[in-house]
Amino acid sequence: MKEYTSDEVKKMKDEVLFTARNVYDTMDEAEISKMNSFCSDYICYLDASKTEREAVNTSVALAKSKGFKEYKFGMSVRPGEKFYFNNRGKELFLFVIGSESIENGIRISAAHIDSPRIDLKQHPLYESAGMAFFKTHYYGGIKKYQWTAIPLALHGTVMKADGSTIDIVVGEDDNDPVFYIDDLLPHLAGNQNSKPLRDAVSGEQLNILIGSVPLCKDGETKLAVMKLLHEKYGIVESDFMSAELSVVPAFKAREVGFDRSLIGGYGHDDRVCAYPALAAILDINEPLHTVMAILADKEEVGSGGNTGMKSSAFTDIISSLSASLGANEHTVRYNSKCLSADVNAAFDPNFEDVYESRNSSFINRGVVMTKYTGSGGKSGTSDASAEFVGYVRNIFDKAGVVWQTGELGKVDAGGGGTVAVYIAEKNIDVVDLGVPVISMHAPYEVISKADIYMAYKAFLAFNA
Ligand code: MN
Ligand code: MN
Repeated sequence: MKEYTSDEVKKMKDEVLFTARNVYDTMDEAEISKMNSFCSDYICYLDASKTEREAVNTSVALAKSKGFKEYKFGMSVRPGEKFYFNNRGKELFLFVIGSESIENGIRISAAHIDSPRIDLKQHPLYESAGMAFFKTHYYGGIKKYQWTAIPLALHGTVMKADGSTIDIVVGEDDNDPVFYIDDLLPHLAGNQNSKPLRDAVSGEQLNILIGSVPLCKDGETKLAVMKLLHEKYGIVESDFMSAELSVVPAFKAREVGFDRSLIGGYGHDDRVCAYPALAAILDINEPLHTVMAILADKEEVGSGGNTGMKSSAFTDIISSLSASLGANEHTVRYNSKCLSADVNAAFDPNFEDVYESRNSSFINRGVVMTKYTGSGGKSGTSDASAEFVGYVRNIFDKAGVVWQTGELGKVDAGGGGTVAVYIAEKNIDVVDLGVPVISMHAPYEVISKADIYMAYKAFLAFNA
């Protein structure tokens, strides 16, 4: 056997073996300071954008301040112009027209701005045992027990009988009251504790405690609460039928850890990708390619509905832009390239049995590229091609983006999907790219500052 010195072995390892990088090994003080400033802005965005409607409003305000104009179907557009298309207040498209032919394709980043939460039913209000409650139906994949016994805030929109609408936010200001879902005291939880976790709290037990003062000697707590709502918002009970009211955690986003390297917050999935995708398009001036960022709704419930990624709003905009620029829309889509900007599950040493550590994403190793999603043998994935992964990989490496690959857990442990498959079926190249998340879909999720900052750098490089 040939003898190698340890130096030779090290050199060979560097040449032919893969070594994972930690973002902190690549950043100097100046870059760390840029990262912290980016993350402070992100924390503000998170707190102001707890629902898809709020995320659209916050994002439109930022876009307008950067010279983006409202787009209408059929408008004529010219290179260098910046537009946003607000789809019914719940989904947002931003785009900047490139100087080269749009037939060379659009560079698209597609994130979602809806997050798991608890929605009010259409007849939500009732009283029981002297307390008033709202009935709910949860939205997206939640572990129900996590949503009990924490402070909750109410967000949403009510359309009244007269056709006027009113926006409601209660529980975010420090002087506001908050709301609450009861859980069982441990002293009486013998039976509950013996149930599987998913059955310990049922969907019909996720009732929101909203008041307890009776109207009169006969009780009437429900009536007393409705009277308060009528006085404050001018609504009556039947108005709940034409409302979208949701309950979300009342927590504010905070730095986590002695070193402040992490951020805890509600709805990182998927604002942790939506915000860097948005930030990366806001500062674009006169790009070569046409660039688009999509902040979609309804991803957490399967991307349906006219504000979800399956809606033709997406292809309608491409058709309309193509017509205005004298381009063939089929060619535009064929040559378009997309980063499906969504989160992945960060390897968690507290639950390592569900992860395959050689192919998981890790905190602080940068933005994570997910070639395929799906479950049970890649079912439901679009599986990006080697060519497209290679194309994206080259862009990132040239731009100094620290990135990693990640598969969502062990092969047979479960799985999940993103909007990638709905973009791929429009004949567009797409791969998932996002930020690793700890405790995904919990009321308070955790991400790393270094990873979201690398996501921002990744979108900048992809758009360039
Ligand atoms: Mn997501
Ligand atoms: Mn999700």
